[in-house]
Amino acid sequence: RPGADLAPYRADFPVLQRPMNDRRLAFLDSAASAQKPQCVIDAERDCYERYYANIHRGVYQLSQQSTQAFENVRGIVQRFINAPDEREVVFVRGATEAINLVAQSFVRPMLQPGDEVLITGMEHHANIVPWQLVTEATGAHLVVAPVLDDGSLDMDGLRARISERTRFISVVHVSNTLGTINPVETITELAHARGIPVLIDGAQSAPHMPVDVQAMGADFYTFSAHKTYGPNGSGILWGRLAHLQAMPPYQGGGDMIRTVRFEGSEYAEPPQRFEAGTPNIAGVIATGVGLEYMEAVGRDRILAHEQSLLAYANERLAEWDDLRVIGTAPGKAGVISFVIDGIHPHDMGTILDMEGVAVRVGHHCTQPLMERFDVPATVRASFGLYNDRADVDALVDGLHKVKSLLG
Ligand code: PMP
Repeated sequence: RPGADLAPYRADFPVLQRPMNDRRLAFLDSAASAQKPQCVIDAERDCYERYYANIHRGVYQLSQQSTQAFENVRGIVQRFINAPDEREVVFVRGATEAINLVAQSFVRPMLQPGDEVLITGMEHHANIVPWQLVTEATGAHLVVAPVLDDGSLDMDGLRARISERTRFISVVHVSNTLGTINPVETITELAHARGIPVLIDGAQSAPHMPVDVQAMGADFYTFSAHKTYGPNGSGILWGRLAHLQAMPPYQGGGDMIRTVRFEGSEYAEPPQRFEAGTPNIAGVIATGVGLEYMEAVGRDRILAHEQSLLAYANERLAEWDDLRVIGTAPGKAGVISFVIDGIHPHDMGTILDMEGVAVRVGHHCTQPLMERFDVPATVRASFGLYNDRADVDALVDGLHKVKSLLG
């Protein structure tokens, strides 16, 4: 059975050993945030216990040690996404901050009234609202490529929406609601043929599959560490060095300057130019450990494992006539969103929780996508490397309970 060999890794996650309502916890909400393996928890704690100090300018040993551990993570990230240069790795709070940074520092200065920024109909709010902020401020327009009925991106629709006025394209790699994996290589090719730079929102691809920003042809790529088995409050912006070098800072403060005078300041080179203030030192160090953990498990294996769980869930849910899966694109990642006729997703989520099954219910920060599929909300089960068939069985058993109580 493909992927079944990941079973031993479940033991690495302390919270998953905790019973929920006297049942084995079926944690099916990794798309929102992944649980943390012991090595990540230990790494953060080890930093505070043994060598924590503020980084960069310290002459004493603790500071040098923490600086080295912190800076070492740039190389880990570089290898994780196959970036050409570790100076292209910017530490941020998460994908949301990264997209806002690119919107404000890279895109906003180039926008004239009537220009266009192109996104898709399946974007997370984090890849919608930052573009509304910059287009509204400059008189530019936000243009949206449509989504097909099966939840895949309408590529003809996308092509048709690339115009003379398109200045930037920002696209989600893997939809957090549908699980659709978008053909990002094709999109960057189309865009570059017209000289348009592209940001790939990798919040849901970095945790689940091998990532190669060069093969992808991206100009910018971003992800959040809390979804790649790392800590909260840490994330990555990768951008091509030439872009980063041409960009003004997003925030001002300590650590992002070369010299400061009241008459004017000189900014540091990237990546420091975009890292104002004291960063999340222990969090960044633990972020690196999360990525190394994923590498040790193997990202091809993680993807195969999660897709095999998705296939099993589809198989088990196929017998339910009144259950509608939203998002059935071929080759999806391990996310299944569904609704059941006549039962509100929030009621399902509450009853499933009583059965020890943790799923997300709601709009998943994709309200326009909910409107596209004419549902107010869905139940979403999403897989991580620690899930197994028993979790899917618990979900199906829980849904039987839902039916018996509310059906
Ligand atoms: N994009 C996608 C596709 C996401 O799933 C998320 C997180 N749910 C984000 C962006 C934003 O990530 P964060 O909240 O960690 O900044």
